[in-house]
Amino acid sequence: MLYKTEGIVLKSMEYEEADKIVTIFTKDCGKITAIAKGVRKTKSKFGSSLEILTHSIFLFYKGRNIDIVSQSEILESFFSTSKEVFKFAFAANCVEIINKLTEEREINVGLFNLLKEVLHYLRISNDPKLLTLSFKWQTMSILGYRPSLNHCCRCNKDIKDQKEMYFNIKEGGLICNNCIAVDKERCVKASLYFNKLVRKILITPLSTISNATIPDERMKELEKITDLYIAYHSEKSFKTDTFLKNL
Ligand SMILES: [Zn+2]
Repeated sequence: MLYKTEGIVLKSMEYEEADKIVTIFTKDCGKITAIAKGVRKTKSKFGSSLEILTHSIFLFYKGRNIDIVSQSEILESFFSTSKEVFKFAFAANCVEIINKLTEEREINVGLFNLLKEVLHYLRISNDPKLLTLSFKWQTMSILGYRPSLNHCCRCNKDIKDQKEMYFNIKEGGLICNNCIAVDKERCVKASLYFNKLVRKILITPLSTISNATIPDERMKELEKITDLYIAYHSEKSFKTDTFLKNL
């Protein structure tokens, strides 16, 4: 059986003498791991379509153990030139996040479009770091981890204008002074600027964010909390993976 879908390559690995094993995040079928046979023997467009960050239409053949990529047509090859090493690193980080946080065959068109968009705007962005971090918050939101930023995630008290606040990594949101007194575990200090910034990020298209910049100090705070939040949730899903495989 053959099937065709648009996709972006998240990971590409050499396999045996001439093959490649690729992980592709597709629009219609979710994340797929497939094999491309004999592809390293010749220099072809097909080979280029299997490089990380390449956006193509792929034709897959349903295999018994693993599906086979049989044809492709490149739509957009992100970061093909070596001049853009810096931006390439941010783009590679975005696909890595998608690979970590998604399950095989779980369809998510919204997330696919977001990935396509971030890769597109990273090329013209003023501040690739801000764009990448914004992409991460929007990804978390699409995957059901939208943080609670107006109310305490424990007691629901309105805290959007509280001066000193903490972000609870585990529960995904801000926590009020009363609740923090009881439980400081997995909480990190967050400024009012951070709160307003993330609230804005969650409702602003990446096309607009790609023209924005923020002060270095604020970036450090945003980066720190983003990394902690993603690490906590991806570690959790990773553990579930291992658990399921060991059953
Ligand atoms: Zn509270």
